[in-house]
Amino acid sequence: MSNKIHACSFDEIIERNWPEGVKKTRQRVDIYRVLHDCDQPLSAAEIFSALNKEHPKEGYAFSTVYRNLLAFEKAGILVKSVLSTEDNAVYELKQATHRHYAVCLKCHTKIPIKTCPLHDIAEHITESLPDFQITGHQLEIYGYCDKCKNTPAQ
Ligand SMILES: [Zn+2]
Ligand SMILES: [Zn+2]
Repeated sequence: MSNKIHACSFDEIIERNWPEGVKKTRQRVDIYRVLHDCDQPLSAAEIFSALNKEHPKEGYAFSTVYRNLLAFEKAGILVKSVLSTEDNAVYELKQATHRHYAVCLKCHTKIPIKTCPLHDIAEHITESLPDFQITGHQLEIYGYCDKCKNTPAQ
């Protein structure tokens, strides 16, 4: 049995979440699936290598994968973040509730934080800046994961 719990099939998820105005191509659906199946944000290079591992015959080019990520981002279904442990931005599908990660400085694992530590603070900011429309925030927790904490730094 798969340990992935999905209430509906991937095709249904695609039908429901596909952004308006973005043409559905096979490559885009494949990129969407990579992002959907992964539980942590991925860089364009990681998405590219996962795609080519799963679809070796397609010969997807990095430049078109990157352009498709930009199209997803523009359509509002992708969240791009810049983490201090990564040289490149990482991407994940936008969730109904946003997520923050604790990132390991050594192995670069990204562990989701269950709750938003900024939730209450965000409300205070809304009170003190009533004219400012807040649309989101970023927060990064970094350190060493369980595996790496006993052997920090190289
Ligand atoms: Zn680690
Ligand atoms: Zn948050």
